[in-house]
Amino acid sequence: MVTAYVGLGSNQGDSPENIRQALRKLDCNPGVSVQEVAGLYKTAPVGYLEQDWFVNTVARIETSLSPDGLLKLLLTIEDELGRVRTIRWGPRTLDLDLLLYAGEVIDSPELTVPHPRMQERAFVMVPLAEIAPDLLIKGQRAEQIAKILKKNQEIVGTGQKVW
Ligand code: ATP
Ligand code: CA
Ligand code: CA
Repeated sequence: MVTAYVGLGSNQGDSPENIRQALRKLDCNPGVSVQEVAGLYKTAPVGYLEQDWFVNTVARIETSLSPDGLLKLLLTIEDELGRVRTIRWGPRTLDLDLLLYAGEVIDSPELTVPHPRMQERAFVMVPLAEIAPDLLIKGQRAEQIAKILKKNQEIVGTGQKVW
């Protein structure tokens, strides 16, 4: 078993419910155990701005799946929850990103770990820092990165827990 972190986001349909169902599906897989999930955050969209705010959180899991196996599972759960891929960074019922997998560095056509844009994104780093403040990302504490990003990206903690 290794520890991995998964980022969850939604801005279509009942977003908190989509995230709750995704966590349930993850935990139901025999190779995955959900350990801890941050509260839900509301965040302004980045990249493509003509869409609703997102609901985001981050989960820590234990897994016996390989990185590729875990990515396949994440993409399958996105499909099951009705994700349709249209505009890049556009609206979606569910987005599941593999942020970190053990301490591994992976760079294949299908999978890059650590997730290449995670340390620029408040919607990833703020919930991650809630459950893993001391985690080091390129030598810097998650909490410290989150504190800096929060200053110029719109993010609101809702206090709502779905796990
Ligand atoms: P971003 O990656 O900037 O957050 P996105 O989540 O909108 O954008 P998607 O359309 O969900 O991007 O993903 C496109 C592809 O990215 C996936 O099919 C997958 O093969 C690939 N990918 C590469 N690295 C990862 C990762 N760490 N987690 C999830 N998908 C990844
Ligand atoms: Ca994403
Ligand atoms: Ca994704």
